[in-house]
Amino acid sequence: MSGGLVILDRDGVINRDSEAFVKTPDEWEPIEGSLKAITDLSSAGFDIAVASNQSGIGRKIIDRPSLEAIHNKMRRLVRESGGDIGKIVYCPHHPEDGCDCRKPAPGLLHKLSRFYGVSLEGVPVIGDSLRDIDAAVAAEARPILVLTGNGQKTERELEQQGRTVETFVDLAAAASALIAESRSN
Ligand SMILES: [Mg+2]
Ligand SMILES: [Zn+2]
Repeated sequence: MSGGLVILDRDGVINRDSEAFVKTPDEWEPIEGSLKAITDLSSAGFDIAVASNQSGIGRKIIDRPSLEAIHNKMRRLVRESGGDIGKIVYCPHHPEDGCDCRKPAPGLLHKLSRFYGVSLEGVPVIGDSLRDIDAAVAAEARPILVLTGNGQKTERELEQQGRTVETFVDLAAAASALIAESRSN
């Protein structure tokens, strides 16, 4: 059974966000319930991909081997919980580089669309920041906001802009809803 693709932002969705950047595996701490949420999605047949802005690389705050080590820890913890994270893509650029992959640009999402060979139409893109929502809209995917990380601030920003986006308290709640939806289809 396949539930299709789900694309997750990382910081503020899977793990606690840090204004000082997450620079080492030790600094990477999962948000309560997020590993189980990913595992539940895996068990329900979803492919889980991660798309995140990692400007700490462009800012020379973290190097690629450290980022890979963090991602290895994330994958390992999810695997130990019985789930699986598929493709991880990230934008390593500085915000001033003007690249086409830093969210709110849709480049990372398009990359995942090519990798999985699927259209992004209806694909849940779960994030905590306005740029995650805007990237999902730009890619014509299905934006979903979670209220962890920057989520509450983002909810207010969306409200000020008169926009409504599908919103859940956290990844666990979003995952439960997607799983229930896939079972009813
Ligand atoms: Mg985030
Ligand atoms: Zn980029």
